[in-house]
Amino acid sequence: MNVADSERLSRALEKLGYQSTNLADEADIIVLNTCVVRQSAEDKALGRLNSLKPLKSAKPHLIIAVMGCLVGNKGNPALEKRFPWVDAFSAPSDPESILRTVRERHASLFEPISKTGEDDITSLLQEEFGIYTSNQHAVSENLPIVLGCSHACAYCIIPSKRGREISRDPKRIIEEAKTMVARGAKEIVLLGQIVDRYGLDRDDGIHLAELLAMVNDIDGLERIRFLTSHPNYFTDDMIKAVATLPKVMPHIELPIQAGDDEVLKAMRRGYTNAQYRDIIAHIRDLMPDVSIGTDIIVGFPGESEAAFDETYKLLADLKLDVAHLARYSPRPGTYSERFLADDVSADEKMRRFRKLESLQKQVVGEINQRFLGQSVPVLFEERAKGKWRGRSPHNRLVFVESDEILLGQIRDVHIDWAGPWSLLGTLS
Ligand code: SF4
Repeated sequence: MNVADSERLSRALEKLGYQSTNLADEADIIVLNTCVVRQSAEDKALGRLNSLKPLKSAKPHLIIAVMGCLVGNKGNPALEKRFPWVDAFSAPSDPESILRTVRERHASLFEPISKTGEDDITSLLQEEFGIYTSNQHAVSENLPIVLGCSHACAYCIIPSKRGREISRDPKRIIEEAKTMVARGAKEIVLLGQIVDRYGLDRDDGIHLAELLAMVNDIDGLERIRFLTSHPNYFTDDMIKAVATLPKVMPHIELPIQAGDDEVLKAMRRGYTNAQYRDIIAHIRDLMPDVSIGTDIIVGFPGESEAAFDETYKLLADLKLDVAHLARYSPRPGTYSERFLADDVSADEKMRRFRKLESLQKQVVGEINQRFLGQSVPVLFEERAKGKWRGRSPHNRLVFVESDEILLGQIRDVHIDWAGPWSLLGTLS
């Protein structure tokens, strides 16, 4: 979601006449888009913000802005007080104050900005995600379809930072998806904190399965992905949509977070270990070839060794394709931070994390062997360190050495080597 927000802001800035640079020293505007989902992410954002201060002193017209969850959707006076040299603070998905600050501060310095009026900023803001023209031609574009979250899992800071769940207008989504395709996107990733709740807060009867069918009809689009789903809302209609719509890739992100029922209850996830196993079995019955990812937090308050073993067993039994692992860290204002003791030591959290990591490495290493010697269609997204990087339908990273320009192409690749985290191959 942050990547999508950053892309949206950079398109707006391009429209105002700016160009992107990878060098902080060269920049006239530096925007830090921040995540606070874990303490380590927050510490990183604060550290980076401190490291930018000398640049600001050396170049007074430099605009430094912070957006995202560090600011939150209700503002953050303490942050503003702590960083008085930051020029603008914006809520997640709402870059208005950054654009206004840019216009005010740079109007006398830069030609295009001097001609930018209040109306231009307003029209930029009225245009929503993704419909700005851009010089960038991303092969895979992120398109938010559900903003915020109303679920309130005990550990999660996102609802208080991004606000309540709002499904976006399907007409708007389709318009934006078409614009993305017109400017070169081959794949669109539909985003939501609980993406499979799409449309449940609207009364037009268009839920995620229907929306996927509408996006599937867009000419020129090759692939569709969506994340992240919640096990309670992943209906048979969704399974059918993934199984039958040709552009929807066979990959589902379905977080479980923990394997023990007591921990799941304390997390307020709304399902049990058995229910999660049932939905995975049901999905695999209907789509044997699907790839499934999950998220897991180790060391949640009250997670005993026996409780952790349930998570370990679940991962060992289900053999999922991806497990995004995290160590619990209490986030301010969440239910677990206020009412549950953070009673698993940092060392123990790390031990559990490593144990799952090594299990998953073995599981995925074995799963990936099935691709060895096969030909898989790969959509190429970029070239890095002399190799083309793309993704298979099952969302595996595939690397290929080739002098051809493969960007944006889907090509069959013969897989010559399969490791746990990536595949290597040659063009067929
Ligand atoms: S579903 Fe739970 S974990 Fe996901 S964003 Fe909402 S509150 Fe956070």
